[in-house]
Amino acid sequence: MLKGKNRGRFERTVLTDVKAVLESFPQAQFLKEYGRLYIVLNGEDHESLIKALKKVFGIDTISPVMVCPSELDKIIETALLFMEKIHLKGETTFKVTSRRVWKPFPHSSQEMNHLVGSPMLKTFSNLKVSMNDPELTLRVEIREQGTYLYCEVIPGAGGFPRGSNGKAMLLLSGGIDSPVAGWSSMRRGLEVECVHFYSYPFTSRMAKEKVIDLAKVLAGYAGEIKIHLVPFTEVQTAFTGIGQDNLIITLMRRAMLRIATMLANREGALALVTGDSLGQVASQTLGSMNVIGRATEIPLLRPLIMMDKNEIITLSKEIGTYDLSILPFEDCCTLFVPKSPATNPNLRIVEKIEHRIQTLPTMLQEAVDRTETLVLTSNSHVDLSGEEEVVNGDWF
Ligand code: ATP
Ligand code: MG
Repeated sequence: MLKGKNRGRFERTVLTDVKAVLESFPQAQFLKEYGRLYIVLNGEDHESLIKALKKVFGIDTISPVMVCPSELDKIIETALLFMEKIHLKGETTFKVTSRRVWKPFPHSSQEMNHLVGSPMLKTFSNLKVSMNDPELTLRVEIREQGTYLYCEVIPGAGGFPRGSNGKAMLLLSGGIDSPVAGWSSMRRGLEVECVHFYSYPFTSRMAKEKVIDLAKVLAGYAGEIKIHLVPFTEVQTAFTGIGQDNLIITLMRRAMLRIATMLANREGALALVTGDSLGQVASQTLGSMNVIGRATEIPLLRPLIMMDKNEIITLSKEIGTYDLSILPFEDCCTLFVPKSPATNPNLRIVEKIEHRIQTLPTMLQEAVDRTETLVLTSNSHVDLSGEEEVVNGDWF
């Protein structure tokens, strides 16, 4: 869809990603044309190939096609063969839409609609013509190198090619929202690195494993993904003793943004991404977001901000994160949720509390220094078995 100087660079990225997909389909070959990519299957299974291609950002639509030489009798023959493969269930309305891209071809697009449509009607008694709203449209695209016939136009992932819009840090929890926010950012062409905050021994190894698994699903769209695992226990417990339980979530979120910003600066990322959705919980009211967001100076992107939970859930199922997200492991924030978290925190009070905890800047820096970074692909194996286990009991 793009014109101008970005186009070549964007196409090259898509091509690299498609080539990576094709590594699992060794017989398949591809041909590039302006704005388009043809993949010759050579016997590879088209359904699994399409499933894999649907993960490549920047691909708008995918169509299984049959190809034949651009000669009338060959085109008709192929159209009949095409229809045979479809296995019509009962009466079906249809039309033929031809496009003569190669002008020396002797029949116009209009003529071709009739020339191809009539023998189809004769051969398949279930077919009925409908010009306005057909159930089936056979598209016939006549080009010099061959004629392409197809019915299906399957939506691809769309968006911009991977990494074409710079890099951002995704705050990845184990919930439903943040992985979807990550996917949406990647779809917009952002390269994403993940930051996860964990609180051993209050959160378990399983909770950390779950987040690593979620990042691996995202890696399936990006080839590989970095995850920064930040030890958050000390920062978090610094906020629990201040006698302002209703502000704990606000304070924790601000600390998270500060640490994520430090990591972003270190890694050359220009923005933060969260899974916030307006009004969903106390920390996502406008008042809370206002106070929390001020903890960072770099842009804070919230791709899901105006989405309903149902829409987010539907997306998480489509992208393959839902089943992991609903596993019942605790997140560091859910553990410390007070009875009545502030929905409209006061910035001045919050800043005063932070100021009073003199060791806070050191603790934030230490958390950054002790952060572990993993580079994951969709089938990485990460062994956390040597790590600390949860100590059951009361931690306040
Ligand atoms: P999610 O489903 O993404 O966890 P949520 O609706 O549960 O979202 P919160 O738990 O309030 O909302 O978190 C809001 C956002 O803060 C998350 O979307 C995520 O970006 C970030 N966040 C929360 N907890 C963590 C964590 N432990 N590590 C990294 N980011 C986190
Ligand atoms: Mg959460």
